[in-house]
Amino acid sequence: MSYFDELFDLIEKQHEWRSKCINLIASENVTSPAVREAIVSDFSHRYAEGLLGGKTNGFRVFDRFYQGTKYFDRVEALAIKLAEDLFKAEHANVVPISGAMANLTVYSALAKHGDKISGLSVQAGGHISHTHVSCAGVIGLRDVSYVFDNEEMNIDVDGSRKNLVKEKPKIMMLGASLLLFPHPVREMKKIADEIGSTLVYDAAHVLGLFAGGRFQDPLQEGADVVTSSTHKSFPGPQGGLILCRNEFAERVDNAAFPGLTSNHHLHHVAGLVVALAEMQKFSGEYAEQIVKNAKALAQSMHELGFNVLCEKKGFTESHQVVVDVSGVGGGDKVANDCEKANIILNKNLLPWDTLKMTGNPSGIRIGVPEVTHIGMKESEMEEISEFLKRITLDRENPTKVKADVIEFMKDYNKVHYCFESHVGAYEYIRFK
Ligand SMILES: *Cc1c(COP(=O)(O)O)cnc(C)c1O
Repeated sequence: MSYFDELFDLIEKQHEWRSKCINLIASENVTSPAVREAIVSDFSHRYAEGLLGGKTNGFRVFDRFYQGTKYFDRVEALAIKLAEDLFKAEHANVVPISGAMANLTVYSALAKHGDKISGLSVQAGGHISHTHVSCAGVIGLRDVSYVFDNEEMNIDVDGSRKNLVKEKPKIMMLGASLLLFPHPVREMKKIADEIGSTLVYDAAHVLGLFAGGRFQDPLQEGADVVTSSTHKSFPGPQGGLILCRNEFAERVDNAAFPGLTSNHHLHHVAGLVVALAEMQKFSGEYAEQIVKNAKALAQSMHELGFNVLCEKKGFTESHQVVVDVSGVGGGDKVANDCEKANIILNKNLLPWDTLKMTGNPSGIRIGVPEVTHIGMKESEMEEISEFLKRITLDRENPTKVKADVIEFMKDYNKVHYCFESHVGAYEYIRFK
């Protein structure tokens, strides 16, 4: 087989396999067919370097360096307008090509080499891009960690205050990759104002909930800037997004272009317009069902004997469920066994783990955006928890469970909460 043939064979196998898997990766989703159509359009091979101009009738105009962008200019203007409307933001920038790049853009807009940034440690659920090993380190920021309350699974504001007043970080990050309950935006904004810091909420995981009026509205609660990915609970193409108050707009726009991006990914901006339009219409129902599903899955796993975190707090208010599996082999073993049964999820450090445990941490993190997006409700969450029990607690042979998972998935092959299409959720579309 040539490498060419092998590649297309791999792509088709991926589609086939994933149509038979229950995907519970909290940072993933499946986009609608219309989003996929936008991504393979002519915009995927074009350039549109340039600066954001002012607005005409509420829509952005652009000062481009290349010809050929007349249709794309309208596409990007639509993306910005829809994002500003949906998230009630004064200003949106859709240039960053990922969530991490959105963070780096904001860091370079608002801080300089040697400044400090505060956020959650990776063990407590913070994202690496909030720390010196990743984006923050790239521009020489030193990180300061918040104190984390393991019982509340949230930032300990009073515990963190003293250190923040002493260290005076230039940027205070909120938001995380392990995120069960709303972060204390209002309280942290008070500290930020006290020490002259800018409060940035990283909504990568919860943007879809934010769109639907669930979880929290960081801008309304006081965040100066919101950064995000566009492809986790928000069901868009892979990409990044920045929302901010007008006072930060110029600095953010310049940091995005010409600062850190030359050409952005125009096809992904087109896909983002589709997802924003879908969410304008469906995000209320979609986000509500995600939270109901996460709670139902957590409750059901708890009843079946799993050590689901935060029972006293109702387990979760987000799209995530976190389970301590240290008593049944650890996160690595559980995630591997689940994959053998066509259930895809990830091992995860828990706040009391050390970084040394990254290979086999105590936890697994489960997310329900994708299964919700393909139409599953609370009763399906009970079935999924039953599969997880058979694999993990009953130690049934995963290949036996896999047969039942494949049968179960047969009923879920369409994307919901989007505009009608005859194309299936995992259907492979052949061009050649
Ligand atoms: C996933 C994630 C990111 C990074 O987003 P990418 O699009 O993968 O670059 C940033 N912040 C948080 C909190 C995340 O969970």
